[in-house]
Amino acid sequence: MKTFVRCGQLFTGAEDEAQKDAALVYDGDGRIVYAGPEAGAPRRGRGARVVDHSGGFLMPGLIDVHTHLAYGNAKSEEDIDLYSPLEFRALRGMFFAQKVLAAGYTAICSPGDAGQISLSIRDAIAAGLFDGPRVMAAGPYLTTHQGLTDWYPTWIGAPDTSIGKLVTNVNEAVEEIRRQVKNGVDCVKIAMDGIQRRPDGELIAAFTQEETDIMVREIHRQGKKAVAHAVGREATLYSARAGIDLIFHGFHLDDECIAAMLKNGCMLGPTLTQPKNIIEFTQPHEPAAQKGRPEAVERRYRLGCANLKKAVKAGVPFLTGTDSGFAVTPYGEWHAREIELFVEDLGFTPAAALRAATEISARFMTGGDAIGVLAPGRTADFTAWDGSPLADIRVLQDKSRLRGVYQAGREVRIPDRPYDPRQVTDFSLSNWTDLYTQARVAELRPPPKRLEAAE
Ligand SMILES: [Zn+2]
Repeated sequence: MKTFVRCGQLFTGAEDEAQKDAALVYDGDGRIVYAGPEAGAPRRGRGARVVDHSGGFLMPGLIDVHTHLAYGNAKSEEDIDLYSPLEFRALRGMFFAQKVLAAGYTAICSPGDAGQISLSIRDAIAAGLFDGPRVMAAGPYLTTHQGLTDWYPTWIGAPDTSIGKLVTNVNEAVEEIRRQVKNGVDCVKIAMDGIQRRPDGELIAAFTQEETDIMVREIHRQGKKAVAHAVGREATLYSARAGIDLIFHGFHLDDECIAAMLKNGCMLGPTLTQPKNIIEFTQPHEPAAQKGRPEAVERRYRLGCANLKKAVKAGVPFLTGTDSGFAVTPYGEWHAREIELFVEDLGFTPAAALRAATEISARFMTGGDAIGVLAPGRTADFTAWDGSPLADIRVLQDKSRLRGVYQAGREVRIPDRPYDPRQVTDFSLSNWTDLYTQARVAELRPPPKRLEAAE
C-alpha cells in the first residue's frame, strides 16, 4: 500500500530550495517512489493512505555524526569511564538514543564509546527491539599517552571500562583494529591528539605520520571508515595525509591540511556546539569556570571558526555533529544548534546548513546512500515541522514545532519520559567545589550554619 504525504513545503536535501504544494509518496516498505509537485504525483490508488502535512515543512531526517551513546550526559571524564558498568551504560544509551530520535534525528554516528555499547544499541534498534535512530557505531578510541581519553596518571592507566584503548605500539593498534572489526564496528576512532602541548603551545599529535598511515590502511583494508579527534595542526595534517574519512574539530588547520584533505577526500565535522555551550552555559561556581576553561575555549573557538571558514571556502565537505552526551550537550537538546552555528559562525546559507545535516552527512554514514535525500529509491526517513528552517534556522531547536518523525515511512512517537540525573549519571564521589578556610568562610555571606553545641 502506498502512502501519500501532502507537504506545504518539501525540502528534498538535493536542492537549495523548498518546493511548495508538493507530495512525498512511498511504498509499503517505506521506499520513496515520488517526491515533487503534488500536481505531478502518481495517481492515488484506492485505499491509499494519506498523511496531511499541507501546513508543514517536510525535510529528510536529520543526522548527527558526533553523539556518544556511552557518555550519559556526563559532568566529568570520570563519570564517563568509571562509575557505572558497561551493561547499565548500554541500557542508558538506548534510553538517550530515543531522545535523539525524538528531536528529529533519524541517524547518528557514535564515534568512540566504551566496550560494545554503541554497536549493541545499533543492533537492538536494527532488529526492531526498540525504536531509535539508525546508529553507525565505533568501539573505544585508539589512543597513546599523548592522546585524548588517556586521562589518568600513568600509574592508573586506562581502565577497561574507559572510552579509550591505550596502545603502546603500532602492532597493538593494528590488533585492536582487528578486534573491533571482528566485533562489528562501522568505523574506528583514533585520538590523534589530546591535551598535551609542546613548550611552544602546539598540541602534540598522539601518533606519528607513519603510525597513522599504518592504522588507516588497516581500517580501510577491512572495509571500515576511519574517524579522528584532531584539534591541533599536526594531528589534523597527519589525519588528512593518511586519508582519514572524517576528521573532528580541525580548529588549527592550515592551507597544508586543507590541500591534503581535498586530495584524499576527507570530510570535516567541526563540532561547534559543545565548545559554544561550554562558553555560554558554564556557571561561575563550576570547576570549569574556576579553571578558566570558558575563556580558553572561546579563544580557541574564534580562531577555529576563522580557520574552518577557509576549509569551507576550499570545498571540504562539512558534517554536522554536536558531541552530545556531556552535561553541556544533553541528548535530544542541542543537536540542531550545530546547524544554526554553521549559519551564524561559518557563514553557511540556511539551505547549505540543512544539506550539511542531511545529504552531506549521509555520505559518511553506513548505508548513507539510502538516507539523507528524499528521492525515489531512498528510504522515507523524514521530519515535518511547523515553520520553515530556511526562514528561521532556529525552528529546528523548537520541539513544539516538530510535527512528526518518520523512519522508513512509519511515524515514531517517543514518550517524553523524565529522569533523575542522580540515578542515571551522577555517581561521582566529589562533594565540594570550594575550600573552606577561615578566610574563605569569612568571605561567604551569610556564614554557613553552625551545629548547636551539644548540651
Ligand atoms: Zn567526541
